[in-house]
Order: sequence, then structure tokens, then C-alpha cells
Amino acid sequence: MTLKAILASSVLALTAAAAVADTVGIAMPTKSSSRWISDGNSMVEQFKAAGYDTILQYAEDDIPNQLAQIENMITNGVDVLVIAAIDGTTLSNALENAHFAGIKTIAYDRLIRDSEYVDYYATFDNFKVGVQQASSLVAGLAERFGEGPYNVELFGGSPDDNNAYFFYDGAMSVLQPMIDAGKVQIVSGQMGMDTVGTLRWDGAVAQARMDNLLSAHYTDAPVHGVLSPYDGLSIGIISSLKGGGYGSGDLAMPIVSGQDAEIRSVKSMLTGEQYSTVFKDTRALAGVTVGMVDALLKGGEPEINDTTTYDNGVKVVPSFLLEPVSVDLSNWEEVIIGSGYYTRDQVE
Ligand code: BGC
Repeated sequence: MTLKAILASSVLALTAAAAVADTVGIAMPTKSSSRWISDGNSMVEQFKAAGYDTILQYAEDDIPNQLAQIENMITNGVDVLVIAAIDGTTLSNALENAHFAGIKTIAYDRLIRDSEYVDYYATFDNFKVGVQQASSLVAGLAERFGEGPYNVELFGGSPDDNNAYFFYDGAMSVLQPMIDAGKVQIVSGQMGMDTVGTLRWDGAVAQARMDNLLSAHYTDAPVHGVLSPYDGLSIGIISSLKGGGYGSGDLAMPIVSGQDAEIRSVKSMLTGEQYSTVFKDTRALAGVTVGMVDALLKGGEPEINDTTTYDNGVKVVPSFLLEPVSVDLSNWEEVIIGSGYYTRDQVE
């Protein structure tokens, strides 16, 4: 073969390879929280670098919308689905369709329940997130309010998100013994995910509930701490507290936890309002997911580190759990800025 012929045939081979690049369908819940935007962007970037095409869609927390997006991805012949479900219980039919079309599914961050066709799960140690939220709440209470007993209220995440139960249970593993010992008092008496859950992780719902708690239970004694499982709820809770006069005069701002290190909440920490958050590096979660997809499509075994925790009602889904990091004023620079997650300008 002449050099020209060799070159021509390799160009053809390259074009053919490019034409059959595998496509990953990525279904994300909402753009209303910046973490999911980071997740989506990191995945698109990292999948591209690994030679994959992507279709990335957000469903603005609308369940039928997310279902339609996933069905479209299946019809369009994606090779793998990566799904962060809005409601982890409503995707059984879609996943069955995907399975019979030869498409593997990875549950991203949130477990998809009630389906045997969830192949893998990439997430953080969600129980530990709850432990970190409550531990930081307790540390903040001692720092700001001394010995106690402390008046505390509890907020849970969305009851249709499996993670919400892990966060709550993790937090209660720290708080329940203190409640039993009389050191923490849930003044409203409102406990349990069926009572304290916040549908769709909606900050406005949390704000309204905090308003009600303050007017019904805190006219005589102040609230000292609020367990909040997500920064978007913390922002609503803090607005309510400020509206009730906390953080000015002699009403100290209660200790409020959070999750995701959203920019608004890092800013809030820096101005002394939100006490802490939990940082989950979405770049690393994207990296784990890309690794899983790559292994699946090349006939290898995705790397997992947990085969016991995440029972979705039908099977225990093989999982890879990343480590969350508790962040407060003592370590935010090192963790958030030092890791390059945000620049100083973004949060100061
Ligand atoms: C995620 C959290 C997030 C929450 C609300 C959960 O499933 O694990 O990181 O704060 O959803 O978006």
C-alpha cells in the first residue's frame, strides 16, 4: 500500500470510530440547585475526555418530564443511562424498557428503587452525611450555647428520595441518644421522616414550616439549633429565623447545618449565619461514574466498594461510595478553595 493509501484508510478508520462513539444519556433532576449543574458539567467534560458522546437533560423537578426525557434517550439509542432520579420510585417501567433495549443503567447519587434493572450505584456515604450534619450541629451548639440542654428542630429531605432516609437516620444516630439523655429537646415534638420530610427539597416549604414552628413553639424560649439536610433548605430556614428576630439583639442565630457547599451557603457561613455544610465533590462522583460506564461498555467490571447497604426493594445494588467532608469556618478554605471547587472570588 502506498503511503497515501495508508493515510486514507486510517482516516476512514478514524471516521468510522468517531461515528460509532458510544452515547451516554444523563438525566439530572433540576438546575435549581447548583450541585446538579456541577454534576452534569463534570460528567459531560469527563465523558468527552474518555471518548463518549453525551445527552444531558434536566427535568426541573417534574417527574413526568424526567420520565419523558429518559424514554426519549432510550428511543434515541443511548448505550448507557446515568440517572439522578427526582422520585426514586417511579422509573421501573422506563428501566425495564432500557434493559430490553440492551441499555445499562447507573443510579447517580440517588438510588432508584423497585427495579431489578439498576446495574450500579455511584454515590457518597449517605448515612455518614447525616452523622456529619448532626455532629457538626452538636459541636456548634456547645460552642455557641454552652452546656445545654438545647432546643432543636429537625428537618428531613424529600420523602421520595432514598437519600433523605439515610441522612435522617445518620443524624438520628447522633441525636437520639442526646434526646434520650435530655440534652437535646425537640420542643415541637415533631420527629420522623413522615413528619419532618420536605417534599422536593423545597426551601420555601422549609421556610414556611420554620415560621410555623417559631410561632407555635418558640414564643417563650429560643430555638438553639436546626438540623437541615440540604443548603437550599438551610437558606429558607435562616430567612425564617431572621424574620423571627434571630441573629440580632440578644437572640443568637441558631446553629443550622446543611449539605452541598452551595455558593449561597458558603457565603452565608462566611457572614456567620449558616454554621456548616457537607461538601461532596461532584467532580469525583462524575469520575467514578465515567469509570463505571467505561468498564461496562468495554466488558469489564466496574469498581465498587459496597455490596450490602443499598437494597432498592428488589435487590442490593452494587455501589461505590465516596467520602463526604464536613465543612465549617475552621476548614472551608482548605476544602472548598484548596480543592479548586470554587475560586475565592465566587464565595467572598
Ligand atoms: C443529594 C443531596 C442534595 C439533595 C437535594 C440528595 O439526593 O444527595 O446532595 O442536597 O438531594 O438536591
